[in-house]
Order: sequence, then C-alpha cells, then structure tokens
Amino acid sequence: MNIGDRIVAWSKDEEIKKEGASGGLVTSLLTAALKGELVDEVIALQKVSEFEGVPIRTSNVDEVIKCSGSLHAAPINLTKFAVRFFEAHPDGTLALPAKPCDARGIIEQAKRKKINLEKTYLIGLNCGGTMPPITTMKMLEKMYEINPDDVIEEEIERGKLIFKTEKEEKAISIDELEEAGYGRRENCRYCETNIPVMTDVACGNWGAGKNETFVEIFTEKGLKLMNNAIELGLIETAPATEKGIKIREKTNSVMEKVAKKWHKKIFVPIEDRLERFHYYMDVMEDCIDCEACKYVCPVCACDESKCIDFYDPMDSHKISIYHLVRLLHISDSCIGCGQCTDVCPAEIPLTILHRRMADRIQAKYDYIPGMDMKIPPSFEVE
Ligand SMILES: Cc1cc2nc3c(=O)[nH]c(=O)nc-3n(C[C@H](O)[C@H](O)[C@H](O)COP(=O)(O)OP(=O)(O)OC[C@H]3O[C@@H](n4cnc5c(N)ncnc54)[C@H](O)[C@@H]3O)c2cc1C
Repeated sequence: MNIGDRIVAWSKDEEIKKEGASGGLVTSLLTAALKGELVDEVIALQKVSEFEGVPIRTSNVDEVIKCSGSLHAAPINLTKFAVRFFEAHPDGTLALPAKPCDARGIIEQAKRKKINLEKTYLIGLNCGGTMPPITTMKMLEKMYEINPDDVIEEEIERGKLIFKTEKEEKAISIDELEEAGYGRRENCRYCETNIPVMTDVACGNWGAGKNETFVEIFTEKGLKLMNNAIELGLIETAPATEKGIKIREKTNSVMEKVAKKWHKKIFVPIEDRLERFHYYMDVMEDCIDCEACKYVCPVCACDESKCIDFYDPMDSHKISIYHLVRLLHISDSCIGCGQCTDVCPAEIPLTILHRRMADRIQAKYDYIPGMDMKIPPSFEVE
C-alpha cells in the first residue's frame, strides 16, 4: 500500500461492519489506532438519536465502537474538541473522523498553534452535507409522513434521502426536498469541498460496494493508520475498481456543480456600497450580544477573552463593535461551516454575512482556508 492508493476496505468484525455507515472501516481505524497505541485518545460522535450526536473524547475502544454510523442530521463541528484535547495534553496524540469542515477548522487552528497537526490523525469523511435536526424532524412529518421517533435508520443513496422505520422505508430525492425548503443546511448546499483531500485518508461510500468504504490515502500518517489496522487484523482491503473510481469522481464533480449553482442563487451581489452597509446593519439589528457565534466558531482562536469588550444596546447603529471585529477577524479564515448561524438565538444569517465578506477577501488573496498549511494573509508580516 502506498500514498495515493485508492482502495476499498471494511471491518473484519461483523458487528462493526453491520453498524458502520459503509462497512465500519472508520470505526476500525479508530479502534486500531487506540489498540496499536498510535494515539492516546479518539474523538467520535456518540449517537443520541438519528437527530442528535454528542462528541466524546475517549481512550475506551468499546465507546468508539458504539459511535459507529453516520449522523447526517448532527451538524456539529469537531474542531474545538480537538483544541481542548491539546490544551489538556500538549504532547498527546489524537485521531478523529473529520468531515471537510472539521478538517478545515482543525488546519486553521493548527496554524494558530492550538492543534499539533503532526500528532493528529485526520480520518476524512466525504461529505455531501449535513441537515438541520429540527427542520429535518418537521420534514419527516410533512414530506415522509413519518413520526421522527419511529425512525430507526437513515441513509443517503443515489441522491435520495431514505428513512426507515420498523414497518416501512421511504425515499425522496434531495433535490425535491430542497425545493420544498428542507434537506441540507444552507451552507452545505454551496460548499464545494466534498472529498476532504487535506486529511490523512478520505473515506466515503461513493464508488464503493455495499458494506465497504472507498479510501484514498494522502499522507504517511494515513498509510500508518491503514497498516496498523491491517497488522492488528481488524480490516480487510481490496483495490478500488476503475468503475468505482469513475463513479466517485463523477459524483464529486456533479456535487461541485450543484454547489456553484446554489452559491449563485444565495449570494446575489449587492453592488451599491450604501445598500451593502444598510444590508449588514439591518440583519445584525436583532443581535443580543450573547457571543454564542464566537464560542462555536471553529476558526476563532480568541479563547474565552472577548474579541472586544464594548457593546452598548443603545447604540444608534445596532451593530455591535463585536460583530464588526469578528467580520474582519475571520474574513481570511472563515470556512463557511454554518455553526454561527446554527446557534444564533436571534436567527441572524451570520454565515451568509461572514461569507459575503470572506469571499471577497479570500479571493483577493487567492487564499482558501483550511485546505493546506498556507499561512493566512493576516499572519504575514510586512
Ligand atoms: C454528515 C455526513 C455526510 C456524508 N456524506 C457523504 C457523501 O455524500 N458521500 C460519501 O461518499 N460519503 C459520505 N459520508 C461518509 C460516509 O457516510 C461514511 O462515514 C464513510 O463511508 C465511512 O463509513 P464507515 O462505515 O467506515 O464509518 P463508521 O465506521 O460508521 O464510522 C463513522 C464515524 O464518523 C463519526 N460521525 C458520524 N456522524 C458524524 C458527523 N455528523 N460529524 C462527524 N463525525 C461523524 C462517527 O462517530 C464514527 O466515528 C458522509 C458522512 C457524514 C457524517
């Protein structure tokens, strides 16, 4: 096995293979990393329901096994959990599954010395997007006529979102759901990074057969992860087929085109400067200054300190300096992950506001955050 190889792989443990999203490879890589002492701890997402997952940090193999499976309606970003690991264990080693936005957040924090990337094994998960949990439950009742409590399994296959209960299985195309205002979170619709090429290995079901994962190995660490699991007898591998490789490439390029279309639809330019100014003022007006957006932001590295400690609710312009600073502050590093919008109690479309600014700045500097270890423009010394 070499860097650059594309293979299919699956868990040798029948239970993990069955419970895993596509053959349980990721769970087996994580458990092997603990058993083979490649890492001290693992982060994984513990399932509460089909619509809720809680990130855990553990060195217990059984706990990792319980986290197998993909939660498409658990749009959490794992970056801050990795930051907390390195705060507690500066010399520790960590492995975690990482959607492209998890990986991009982690790389941005590594540039800010909050994460040691050399000691982090990033097991990339291809990602076509996550769904907002509450809206997804409403969608189930309205579009699928299924009680969310009855769902026992959910999966995405050939552009369709499938929900299973004890009695039935219903599939509706994601396009149809999104036309009706459901489906993926807004920022996932225009996200063009579906295969996390910045990780150590990228795992996904595109181009793989049933109960197997398509894996692409990108780094020495990725190779080490795979070889460790093979040596421990936990996974089986086979070369990817030409057909599988083509399917994966084609699906990825279709997804990129769909994302570009969404981007055009959502980001209608506001050419006039004054109009742009009023647009920001108006949408920020409802801010209650709770700072939740900052706490969840995977690329903010200000820790507990406030970006700026000034806010007067009586301001004639109801946009706090806090937001002005944040807009500038993350304009070079915003990855458009949508966490800020998700948590905003005032329902301000923060990700759109940040992306409107970040798109211009990042294009100007020809800089895409979180795709590699290139230093952001704000870090460059004149
Ligand atoms: C939200 C989401 C969307 C995806 N979309 C695609 C796609 O469009 N195309 C494609 O080829 N593959 C996609 N995948 C990857 C695919 O579903 C499988 O995760 C992958 O094939 C590995 O399967 P496995 O059986 O080896 O993983 P498993 O052994 O089941 O391990 C999965 C690991 O991912 C963790 N996890 C579960 N949900 C999340 C989450 N929301 N965020 C972070 N970690 C999580 C679990 O805790 C577990 O550790 C997606 C995965 C997720 C989570």
